[in-house]
Amino acid sequence: MIVQNAVICNKCDDFIVSKHRHDFVTCKCGAISVDGGQAYLRRIGDLSAGIDMSWELPDELYTACGQAVLDAKSTNRTNIGIANAVMRTLREAGRIIADGEYRVMANYQDELMVEEPDGTVNRYKKVVVE
Ligand SMILES: [Zn+2]
Repeated sequence: MIVQNAVICNKCDDFIVSKHRHDFVTCKCGAISVDGGQAYLRRIGDLSAGIDMSWELPDELYTACGQAVLDAKSTNRTNIGIANAVMRTLREAGRIIADGEYRVMANYQDELMVEEPDGTVNRYKKVVVE
């Protein structure tokens, strides 16, 4: 599922977002336009003028986040409680890391590539513990 359908124009610095299927938005200088909202990514104009700021999540995760909102609302959670429910869903899917945690950048065969809390990147050999 497309979460954000957006471009920054590198000629006029305009940040343009298409918010729904037929929301056709053009930057201030007219170099580039976006369209399609969450349905599809359509670009019109000088494509080299656009820095794509779109992003997507798997449909299942998007649906799970929506369900987390419904569940939190049904138990009368505050806006913070609802935000927490969504963040827990994203974290359980490995999409959010907390301050001070490492982030697995790549998990390949017998090695992990990890970004440490201090920003350094390390590789670790996997060890089988029996
Ligand atoms: Zn522009």
